[in-house]
Amino acid sequence: MSSQWQHIARNIKSLYDNKDFVPLHEPTFGGKELEYVTDCIQTGWVSSVGKYVNEFELTLADYTGVKRAVAIVNGTAALHIALKIAGVQANDEVFMPSLTFIATANAVSYLQAVPHFVDVSEHTLGLDPYKLEEYIQAIGVIDNGQLVNKHTGRIIRAVVPMHTFGHSVDLDPLIDICQRYHLVLVEDAAESLGSYYKGKHTGGFGLVGALSFNGNKIITTGGGGAILTNNEKLADYAKHITTTAKNPHRWDFTHDEVGYNYRMPNINAALGCAQLEQIDEFQKSKRLLTKRYEKLFDGVENVQLFTEPSFGKSNYWLQTLLINEEHYNRNFVLEVLNSEGVMARPIWTPLDELQPYFHCPKADLPVTRLLKKRIINIPSTPLRGETND
Ligand SMILES: *Cc1c(COP(=O)(O)O)cnc(C)c1O
Repeated sequence: MSSQWQHIARNIKSLYDNKDFVPLHEPTFGGKELEYVTDCIQTGWVSSVGKYVNEFELTLADYTGVKRAVAIVNGTAALHIALKIAGVQANDEVFMPSLTFIATANAVSYLQAVPHFVDVSEHTLGLDPYKLEEYIQAIGVIDNGQLVNKHTGRIIRAVVPMHTFGHSVDLDPLIDICQRYHLVLVEDAAESLGSYYKGKHTGGFGLVGALSFNGNKIITTGGGGAILTNNEKLADYAKHITTTAKNPHRWDFTHDEVGYNYRMPNINAALGCAQLEQIDEFQKSKRLLTKRYEKLFDGVENVQLFTEPSFGKSNYWLQTLLINEEHYNRNFVLEVLNSEGVMARPIWTPLDELQPYFHCPKADLPVTRLLKKRIINIPSTPLRGETND
């Protein structure tokens, strides 16, 4: 068994010039990054104001097809503000998958609201709308035009689907549920820049969405994030409270509420502008990598490469293997791959299994528990200089 995975490790390395160590996901700087960042330093505009922030926001809105994008200091902060402007308040509950990065739940906690964990689908790895509806019927009651959790008495305000590794969840049935049960849709699109659902970019389906440009994401600004929305007023409000809620004035400092210092610095936006110029190339070479992996794992028994759902086009941010858990022990496979210099990692520990979130309400999570044993992420950096097969 060990020699089989050693063989797989060697095959993976062969896609990356047989390097001794192949990381999971490295940033690719192949464009005007240095030029734009140097421009920030030479002009002195490195911080809170500058042309790159505006340009980054406009290009991002254009690329994602939403009316407005607001650049934020990181993805977690973007989610925090997205949830706040979506109306999430202290003591509300917010539906989300347990199988997500902890930032999704942390952002809810920052508002003194409570994550409420639901199960995911094997077909998307993200929130399962059909199970969600069954669950709502079991534990929810509509009171005064609001969905209320019968067991806790708290309002369930919003639902946060997360497009896992860049694969879109099934959004149409989810949007339908949101309308019928008075839930606000807030998309955690941190991993899905460049991913589409039925031809439309993810992150723009709900009232608000959040993106991340952390160093390991599909494009990077060093650290960074953005709020997406089609609502101009919400976008203006997001900009206002992420710039300390300062009232514009030539010299006076007045602020009309408790704001946040969450805006993206110009130097990070400069990096982002250069990265966005290359996103189509990144996408192409990530799809090429998928093809190579398809070939590599074709015919390998008890291992399946996860590919995009039929209704979507994925950015393939992180390449994903589903191993047959009755055949392979996850930790064993991780041990062999990593020892061979191929960086591989499991999916996040489900949030309901983590100390800060033990106490949160949750549905039965059988698919979550199963996927935890089955998912392994393998190297996903776009192949260098290759966009055609
Ligand atoms: C990366 C990520 C975030 C947060 O992004 P940061 O920029 O690292 O704060 C949020 N949610 C998910 C699912 C992520 O993968």
